[in-house]
Amino acid sequence: MTHRPTPRSLSTTAVTAGRPGRLPDAPLNAPLVPAATYHAGGAMGYGRYANPGWAALEEALGALDGGTAVAFSSGMAAVAAVLEQVPLGGTVVAPARAYSGTLALLQQWQERGRVAVRHVAVDDAAAVAAAVDGADLLWLETPTNPALEVADVPAAAAAARAHGTTVVVDGTFATPVLQRPLEQGADLVVHAATKWLAGHSDALLGAVVTDPARAAALVAHRSATGAVPGALEAFLTLRGLRTLHLRVERSQDNARELARRLAGAPGVQRVRYPGFGGVVAVEVDGAERADRLVAACSLWVHATSLGGVESSLERRRRWPAESPTIPEGLVRLSVGVEDVEDLWADLEQALAAMG
Ligand SMILES: *Cc1c(COP(=O)(O)O)cnc(C)c1O
Repeated sequence: MTHRPTPRSLSTTAVTAGRPGRLPDAPLNAPLVPAATYHAGGAMGYGRYANPGWAALEEALGALDGGTAVAFSSGMAAVAAVLEQVPLGGTVVAPARAYSGTLALLQQWQERGRVAVRHVAVDDAAAVAAAVDGADLLWLETPTNPALEVADVPAAAAAARAHGTTVVVDGTFATPVLQRPLEQGADLVVHAATKWLAGHSDALLGAVVTDPARAAALVAHRSATGAVPGALEAFLTLRGLRTLHLRVERSQDNARELARRLAGAPGVQRVRYPGFGGVVAVEVDGAERADRLVAACSLWVHATSLGGVESSLERRRRWPAESPTIPEGLVRLSVGVEDVEDLWADLEQALAAMG
């Protein structure tokens, strides 16, 4: 199974990694350094090549996932940087259902002849294994956004290795607290750090964690394309990361309880919850009822995105880019760290108002 209890040391790593040395008068936290350029003669050079705040964040992210981290300006910048490593005309095995931005980018590239894409249901391990023959890259997302399917990463990685196919896992929903794909045989992990890692809905940032050689290629890509994180965003993400384990555990406790209660609730046709993490999806009968449910909430925030301390929800198909394989009445819930009884009371009255 991909999820597992927090390793004892992960909480300590989240708190301690990426700190300045313990010298008299040194700050406890890596300082925010807004710098477009640096005095010549050192290793930093220019603001598009390096920033001390990125380095601190990357040290912490790398320690959490067990690899070398590279930070990007957003999750999609990280996704694009990894896909860019596929040779011209190469083949990518991609999820049938996944984050709409990733699938849209792959579709654009396929239409332009940049790559060929084979789609596969990530929760069908046999289909994944059968699809990797001759592919350059296997792109997994687990759990998927917003269908909440779960891939068998070790099985997929073993099949891919037999064919020389590189394996990347978008682990945004699970975070390193619940899933460490590099330990399961994946070559790269991608995170939309915008979500759980930063955790406060105030920063866009992406990251890739991989081996040192692939990381060097990604840094070269970042320097060349300018997909660099802002200094403030890197600072906020590292600040958020300090409490990652606490937030993920509390969101997961709340999500498990809400998924259980929603399963028997009036008007709810189906609940999707993979058994771990802080995202739950409910299906109600049609778009209008789903819109009424969302509008009737007062504690839950109506907004896209996920992984913040505040609980939020949205009907995914309100976005034209969302796949038609996602039901019109599917509402994705990002469960925050509030009191679970308050969250349930608001959902219960909203379900009643939905009618
Ligand atoms: C949000 C998200 C992304 C993209 O991240 P941005 O920071 O919005 O660019 C990628 N993958 C998944 C699974 C996501 O949820």
